[in-house]
Amino acid sequence: MSTSPPPSWPHCGQGADPGTDPIGCRGIHVPGHTMCLAHLTCTIWFNGAQFSGDARFDSARFTGKAGFDRAQFSGSAVFNEVRTGADWR
Ligand SMILES: [Zn+2]
Repeated sequence: MSTSPPPSWPHCGQGADPGTDPIGCRGIHVPGHTMCLAHLTCTIWFNGAQFSGDARFDSARFTGKAGFDRAQFSGSAVFNEVRTGADWR
């Protein structure tokens, strides 16, 4: 069982289980959605997007297309163990 504290950002929570993983997916919500981009199945584009603060996509699984053309990150951007299901730019 994970002893990690819940993330400080509004997180996705997909796959949460009271017994084994009460937090679930730690992916941050995509603006305008209640899931992280890993669990959104639609195409999502961040072309030219400006991320303020840190952006974390740890273990993200992109099931749709994701684009980051000219996206700007003012903090650190973490893409550990990202898996893609479609196009990745
Ligand atoms: Zn998620």
